[in-house]
Formats: sequence, C-alpha cells, structure tokens
Amino acid sequence: MKVLVPIKRVLDYNLKVRVKPDGSGVDLSNLKMSINPFCEIAVEEAVRMKEGGGGHAKDAATEVVAVSIGPEQAQETIRNALAIGADRGILVKAEGEVEPLAVAKLLKAVVDAEKPSLVILGKQAIDDDSNQVGQMLAALLDWPQATFASKIVLHDGKASVTREVDGGLQTIDVELPAIVTTDLRLNEPRYASLPNIMKAKKKPIDVKTPADFGVDVSPRLRVIKTVEPPKRQGGAKVKTAAELVGKLKEAGIF
Ligand code: AMP
Repeated sequence: MKVLVPIKRVLDYNLKVRVKPDGSGVDLSNLKMSINPFCEIAVEEAVRMKEGGGGHAKDAATEVVAVSIGPEQAQETIRNALAIGADRGILVKAEGEVEPLAVAKLLKAVVDAEKPSLVILGKQAIDDDSNQVGQMLAALLDWPQATFASKIVLHDGKASVTREVDGGLQTIDVELPAIVTTDLRLNEPRYASLPNIMKAKKKPIDVKTPADFGVDVSPRLRVIKTVEPPKRQGGAKVKTAAELVGKLKEAGIF
C-alpha cells in the first residue's frame, strides 16, 4: 500500500511571528523554517505503517511518498521527511503563498498520478491555521475522510480512525482509499538519526510545477490587514476558590 504525505514548510513553531510594519502580512525574512508539526506526525505515522511500529502490522505500507508545494527551499522540508523514513519526495515548485484550494487541487493531481491508498495530512498548518486542505482534497477526490486522528488501525481494506472531537473521542471506519488528518496525540515523531539524515540525501525528489498539472494557483483571497494580537492585560491573583467564584460572577461568567 502506498501512502502519500503532504507536508508544508512553515515558520518554526518556537519562533514568534513578526507583523510587517505596513500590516500587509508577517515578516519571514531570515527566520528558521521547519516542517509543520502536524505534517511531521503524519510522516511518522506513515513510516510506522511501513516498519510495523505504533500498533501497525509490518509492511502495512510499502512506500511512503512525501509531497510539498512551495519554494525551492521546501526540498529541505522533504529531506526532513526522508530522514524520518519516507522513501521519496515530490516538490511542486511554487513561489509565494499557495492557498488551501490550490494546494488541494495540486494534491488531487498528485494523487491521480501516484494512486496512493491513503493520504495522511496534518490537521492544519500552523502558519495560517486554515484546517482546510484535507477536507477539500477529500471532496475533490470524492474519498471518505477521517479528520483529527489520534489513532489509526488498518484492517480489511479499511482504516479505523479514532478522532478527537469536542467532548471526547469518536471512532469511525473509512474504506480505503481515504484521507486522514493527524491530531497532536497520534504519535511522537522520532528524531532523525545522523545515518538516516545522510541516507535521505540520496533519496530521489521529483521536481514539478503547477503548470505540469494544469492547476491555476493564482490567489482568490485578499489579505486586508494583519495585526499583532492585543497585549495581555495584567491578571490578578485570588486567595480562595470563593473569591474566584465571586470574581467570575462579577464578570457575568457564572
Ligand atoms: P491547512 O489546511 O492549510 O491548515 O493544511 C492542512 C494540511 O494540508 C497540512 O498539515 C499539510 O499536510 C497539507 N498542506 C497544506 N499546505 C501544503 C503545502 N503547501 N504543501 C504540502 N502540503 C500542504
């Protein structure tokens, strides 16, 4: 079974975002970029499907392909996935922001060409927090989807996926081929070892462009303004639970 893992290159999650002085967006110049954490979890899960870790039967997956849509530097992000254990990469080279719908259309074209049985995406990319691509891709392919996965069990041509939903967990079965998006508790990604980082340098990365797939990636959205979140107002300490309840009542919360 082939597993396709779309991965996005984003600002490293340890760094603080700086808003450009003119409010036209965020300033990413000279900042460290990394693989989106939810995508890293997706790669880890796909590799465990190959290796037989995390409750998966060994060889549940036979090939893991990492695909990224982004600038030339997204090759580094793909190398990251290859060092975790993905077999090969595909870079769809695109400059500037590619919106979720265009990403989903490009991924659909990659799925049509690669014919994977499972696509595992992050539930969201931590730059725009869109949480859209997995769902849009499922709709474009007309495949079943299981979002926010905290557990995946493959059996009899199906995936049993435990989903993190408001107020608890929900387990659903989806027929393969299917789309799954990862939540934080699905697994803890490994650190890539030095030998695996070296091996990853030799794994192939195919480079394509949106034109190769006939997809128009021009933006449909216009950013009107980007602003810093308001500064946190100073909090107050309370001595007792009764005092806390009193304050909550005063604020009309209770
Ligand atoms: P989003 O809907 O933008 O929050 O992203 C959800 C997931 O879609 C990410 O975790 C990735 O798995 C995938 N994705 C989004 N943008 C890209 C991209 N430029 N290249 C590859 N995968 C992407």
